[in-house]
Amino acid sequence: MNYPANGFVTAYIGLGSNLASPAEQIITACQRISATPDIIQLACSSLYHSEPMGPQNQPDYVNAVMAIRTTLAPLPLLHCLQTIEQLHGRTRTGERWGARTLDLDLLIYGEQQIDLPELTIPHVGIGERAFVLLPLYEIAPNLIVPGYGTLTGLLDHCPLTNIKRLTP
Ligand code: ATP
Ligand code: CA
Ligand code: CA
Repeated sequence: MNYPANGFVTAYIGLGSNLASPAEQIITACQRISATPDIIQLACSSLYHSEPMGPQNQPDYVNAVMAIRTTLAPLPLLHCLQTIEQLHGRTRTGERWGARTLDLDLLIYGEQQIDLPELTIPHVGIGERAFVLLPLYEIAPNLIVPGYGTLTGLLDHCPLTNIKRLTP
């Protein structure tokens, strides 16, 4: 796996919550990510309201995307995000795409494409999820998604239904 030993890499994180005051969960998670050593926040999107993917018997979601600069390698960054999920009381029921207090997905890490059992970069499904693509477009409209092409090209092919921007 390649990454600059001493340099900063730009990465994008997808945030989602549909339990226990979701908007507050997202705002607090952004603050926690920004306060992490070796991470500098570049931008955070507006909050978005979206309908759940998968099981429909769960509340709607609040989503956002953050851009960061980091010296952390991909796996330590993932572990750091998982620690923050735990701080927000994330429990895993075993149900795929079930309700959660906080979900932090590492969407993009520099120009890298990674395929490990624990970590796929860019994040799977990035091209089909309006609740990822729209907030990403808000903060990085000219982004190229490694292996996928332009963000605008992905948006052209993604149905933008069931999603609403909440805050300016
Ligand atoms: P999805 O990944 O489809 O959005 P999910 O977020 O509900 O679904 P989780 O239960 O949060 O899935 O994560 C399952 C596993 O996915 C984690 O244990 C983690 O190791 C793995 N994973 C692989 N790639 C990534 C990534 N880019 N970001 C976060 N987790 C990842
Ligand atoms: Ca997810
Ligand atoms: Ca996840």
